[in-house]
Amino acid sequence: MLRMKSLLSPSFSTLSPHLTKTTPFSLYFLASKSILCNSQILKNPNCLHIKSTISSMKPLMSSNSIQSRRVQIEASQSSSGEIHVIVGPMFAGKTTTLLRRVQSETSNGRKVAIIKSNKDTRYGLDSIVTHDGVKLPCWALADLSSFREKLGSDAYDELDVIGIDEAQFFGDLYEFCCKAADHEGKTVIVAGLDGDYLRRSFGSVLDIIPLADSVTKLTARCEICGKRAFFTLRKTAETKTELIGGADVYMPVCRQHYVSGQVVIEEATRIVLESQKVQCGEK
Ligand SMILES: [Zn+2]
Repeated sequence: MLRMKSLLSPSFSTLSPHLTKTTPFSLYFLASKSILCNSQILKNPNCLHIKSTISSMKPLMSSNSIQSRRVQIEASQSSSGEIHVIVGPMFAGKTTTLLRRVQSETSNGRKVAIIKSNKDTRYGLDSIVTHDGVKLPCWALADLSSFREKLGSDAYDELDVIGIDEAQFFGDLYEFCCKAADHEGKTVIVAGLDGDYLRRSFGSVLDIIPLADSVTKLTARCEICGKRAFFTLRKTAETKTELIGGADVYMPVCRQHYVSGQVVIEEATRIVLESQKVQCGEK
């Protein structure tokens, strides 16, 4: 639907006389992502009108692409899944936001389950805990593909919502989200780090952005100046990408203090390495 929106929206207001200029096509389509609305779109004479108008616009879209888009719309009627992605640096409240969304789904009567990586054992494996102490039961797994089997397929089929925390640690995130949202009608809410301590893409989190209904980038507070923090600075000289730790190892920083902090850490690392060399030479 989103792709359809982006393809159609620029020229929509000229396509349909039935919608006024105060009803932008993007809004119209954002409001119409449920199955119910999809079927309404197919039945809606306005939309048929749009389709026939677009069919004649060869330079913009070929009849093949119209055809494939129609197939996509019809296919999407069999599922009502969604994917929502929450990213940001450490200490930005990603887990808190995930739990809040999951809890609101629960209060709407939907069946939910939360999965986290079994690599992070800081708070125990059977529950998920935010930095501010909120706690919910969860499944700690090595990969997402084992979840259905672990939960039992009947219980899995009954699930409406799956929350995934620390998503950067799951190598099969893309495949799992595709299957769950596209074919099984699940709402998947994913929280994870978009970047590692060197601001490189972390795991598969960014790979699922094209699959997502919504993407939320949260920020923390820079530990040095208090401005908005977008990045995670590692305070130690350890260089492996996956180093589990809390405030002892990491701090959220703004751009300015990320850059200056990296310089300080690199310099400190160089001094330590040189002093080790000296000591080795003395022996
Ligand atoms: Zn700062």
